[in-house]
Amino acid sequence: SSLNRNTEYVIVGGGNAAGYAAKAFVDNDQAAGKLAIISSEEVAPYERPTLSKGYLFPIKGDAKPPRLPGFHTTVGTGGERQTPEWYEQKGIELLLGTTISGLDLSKKELTTSKGDTLSYKKLIVATGSTASRLPEKIGGALPGVNYIRNVADADGLVKDFQNAKKVVVIGGGYIGMEVSAAALAWGLDVTLIFPEPHFMPRLFTPGIAAHYHKLYESLGANFVTGASVERFEAGPDGRVAKAIASNKQEYDADLIVVGVGAKPAVQLFLDAGLDEEAKGIKVNDQLQSSNPDVYAIGDTAAFPIKILGSTSRVEHVDHARKSAAHVVKAILDGSGEGYDYLPYFYSRVFEHPGTARKVWWQFYGENKGEVVDVGDFDPKLAAFWVDEGTLKGVFLESGAPEEFKLLPEIARMRPKIDIDELKKADTVEKALE
Ligand code: FAD
Repeated sequence: SSLNRNTEYVIVGGGNAAGYAAKAFVDNDQAAGKLAIISSEEVAPYERPTLSKGYLFPIKGDAKPPRLPGFHTTVGTGGERQTPEWYEQKGIELLLGTTISGLDLSKKELTTSKGDTLSYKKLIVATGSTASRLPEKIGGALPGVNYIRNVADADGLVKDFQNAKKVVVIGGGYIGMEVSAAALAWGLDVTLIFPEPHFMPRLFTPGIAAHYHKLYESLGANFVTGASVERFEAGPDGRVAKAIASNKQEYDADLIVVGVGAKPAVQLFLDAGLDEEAKGIKVNDQLQSSNPDVYAIGDTAAFPIKILGSTSRVEHVDHARKSAAHVVKAILDGSGEGYDYLPYFYSRVFEHPGTARKVWWQFYGENKGEVVDVGDFDPKLAAFWVDEGTLKGVFLESGAPEEFKLLPEIARMRPKIDIDELKKADTVEKALE
């Protein structure tokens, strides 16, 4: 049977990007009776980064933890809260708990896993990513081994935190950093295992990372760097009981959290015939794929990043939001200005009220060239990437709001600077001048 009444614009995936695209269709008066969104998840689009931050922390006093519907899109940017009722009021067809499993580009038709069909005039792919899993044969699917991508995963983890004593966190990226911060706040014994020398190895300099490691260690975390996990072993009850690392050490655990990256959920679209790049769907600067009626946004899109002169995917919420706004403009206006994205990463590791120290940082631009660290993390810290006399990237921890506001301007402007002058700055304030 055919599922949708609204066949003009169809978005597959109901995550961060889809929610912002819905807002853009509404803002342009093009949603009612025209837009359908299909999502595997049981809940309306929400601000996904919340899941590894405030969501996981224990509740202090009468503080309210972030729970749905509190963080449906677009509250992350101060917009209206888009609950299921909002979609209904706006005349948008929201099909939840529905997975798309096939696409026929010539018929312009999607198939659900139950065999229903949906047709479209313009299709937007916003299926995001799935968390990479460790193989079953090394224990990656044992009870007590957690991955985190959606609300159901986060709910499971909060429950496990309440009963756990020893947690082993695999991976030193965003997820590893944020999840271990939450586990420490629960008072758990936390061991982090990852093969790199320090947290966030692709972005943090050793100098930046050293400050975070010191902070985590002061809270009781145990770092096992330069080692990967070889396997997990279950105890007599069948639940995971230990992690065995490549350094041949065994680490007791009643809970494991794995944060080893994510894979774009695009296979069915590539199988249908769309061009691939950087493991995602190749799009032009209007976010249009090799098929003119199909667009891709968010984590799935491999797009030209003009300021870097390269094509790649960006797995961050800021790009999910901005590409969503852009694709609606591209579909409704045809040829406008191309998408011109300035890479931006952020994290709020200890943001929950009641945590001893607030830790949050932002990075804009490109981490290329020689890097100069400034500040001592008490509380501020900044880093500047200078490539052949040009400032290309800037990182700031715990800056003032007006300092954070400078970052995108600096990264966009790419000023010529004298690196020796910059090295003389002994405070973040002086360096930002
Ligand atoms: P998603 O938000 O993942 O949405 C994809 C949706 O598509 C999901 O609802 C999924 O169920 C659905 N779907 C997939 N396949 C199908 C199908 N075949 N049929 C129907 N529906 C389907 N970024 C930052 O910049 N800062 C952060 O601090 C940060 N923290 C994060 C913390 C966590 C725990 C996670 C998981 C991610 C975090 N990110 C962060 C990354 C950011 O959330 C993603 O880049 C963003 O969600 C991408 O949006 P998206 O719409 O492309 O994909």
